[in-house]
Amino acid sequence: MSDSTKPVRVRFAPSPTGKLHVGGARTAIFNWAFARANNGTFILRIDDTDPTRSTDENTQIILRAMRWMGLDWDEGPDVGGEFGPYAQTERLDMYKAAAQRLWDEGKAYPCFCTPEQLAADREAAKARKDPFQGYQRRCRDLDPDEARRRIDAGEPYVLRIKVPDGRGDVVIHDAVHGDVTFDAKELDDFVIFRSDGTPTYNFATVVDDAAMGITHVIRGDDHLSNTPRQVMVYEALGAPVPVFAHISMILGADGKKLSKRHGATSVEEFRDEGYLPDAFVNYLALLGWSPDGETTIVPRDVLASTFSLDRVSKNPATFDPAKLDWINAEYLANMSDDEFTDKIMVPELVEAGLMDEGDHTREWLCTLASVVRPRTKHLGDVAGICSIVFATAESLTYEDKAVSKGLAKEGMADVLAAAASALEAVPDGSWNAEAIDGALEVLPEQLDVKKRLVFQAIRAAVCGNLVSPPLGVVIELVGKADALARIKRARGMAL
Ligand code: GLU
Repeated sequence: MSDSTKPVRVRFAPSPTGKLHVGGARTAIFNWAFARANNGTFILRIDDTDPTRSTDENTQIILRAMRWMGLDWDEGPDVGGEFGPYAQTERLDMYKAAAQRLWDEGKAYPCFCTPEQLAADREAAKARKDPFQGYQRRCRDLDPDEARRRIDAGEPYVLRIKVPDGRGDVVIHDAVHGDVTFDAKELDDFVIFRSDGTPTYNFATVVDDAAMGITHVIRGDDHLSNTPRQVMVYEALGAPVPVFAHISMILGADGKKLSKRHGATSVEEFRDEGYLPDAFVNYLALLGWSPDGETTIVPRDVLASTFSLDRVSKNPATFDPAKLDWINAEYLANMSDDEFTDKIMVPELVEAGLMDEGDHTREWLCTLASVVRPRTKHLGDVAGICSIVFATAESLTYEDKAVSKGLAKEGMADVLAAAASALEAVPDGSWNAEAIDGALEVLPEQLDVKKRLVFQAIRAAVCGNLVSPPLGVVIELVGKADALARIKRARGMAL
């Protein structure tokens, strides 16, 4: 049984066979939050024992995704640690030594059965309606001298674990599923080392988890069926069995396992679609866990202090993109303009090529942020919202609707002429939205033209559209000379 008084050590152990997907990211978040909530250690281990499907590129993608989510690891790639190395391909010697030890102690044995032999045994078991159709233990009692002779003669072999006679049922005390019982008769003497000298997943994982002192294994419940085999390995190694917590699958709205068909699934895609890492982590944390069943905004520090396994549900979680959007918008709405400017707006504008780092005063940027932030749902919206401000009088695009509804109406050329004079009269020293609004406000009465028409015309002239952010702020931001030049250009389209 596990010893719950030991300092918590948990690991996230992705296989770099692809990008980091929502399911893996949620597993990483649960492990990270559990470690943080218990003053424990969060370990990142790269399970790259499948050489045909693992790539360094995928490892880098996973590390980038972890960093983007802000899930810092205490031991693992880049940061090291006293239980390293933290990639399975660099730990082969340890697996070999552990397997040799089990072999020496009679807890593992070589098996020479060919694939044809195994297939024939399985067919025979089926034919006689034997409920157990696994490995028939042909080599379990081979004479060790004979085994040695065959090995020396170069015959290929695998190493199998010896499930002890009379082991009885294997009961997993799962922190999420409760006690799960597996019939020991169903456990065959499974392979721990392949004939090519590589360890199997169930063996390498346990050797690592034991060597790294992992106290809690939190992972997807697709691994629940592997767990009794892994328990056999712990027992053979004489290592304490950790607490297991198998977390549910993530389903799409149609009740099917989340996949490409449901839209974005990799962390990278969500980053590129413009979600905030804090909002993304908050949303994923709620897939199967909740602090009280209703709170939806759980800031990172709250997650890191309150996460517990007893509030993890065993029911599948449903991925709801609308809720993610909502949480993302909440995070944006609760940011200060300063934070929004530095963390989001400036990087987005620089990336979009609209400005360079260091362009514009702090005051100008914060004014821009004050109108952009409330209109931003995804980070990718920023450049679009700002484009009218960064345009010039020459480059501004006039939407057809803005021209037909705002400009091409009788009397609008006069309205624009009056607007230009009013702006001209605003002293440079008090060029701000308030003064600008004040100067324009008097025009409807002065010209005896409906307010709606006056402002529609000015908005169309300065912004090229009819739905831009507050007009006074936009005019302030583009500056007097540019605002006047825009109005001059628009007068050419006005009647
Ligand atoms: N490398 C395994 C996976 O990605 C890890 C499973 C485990 O956590 O034991 O599914």
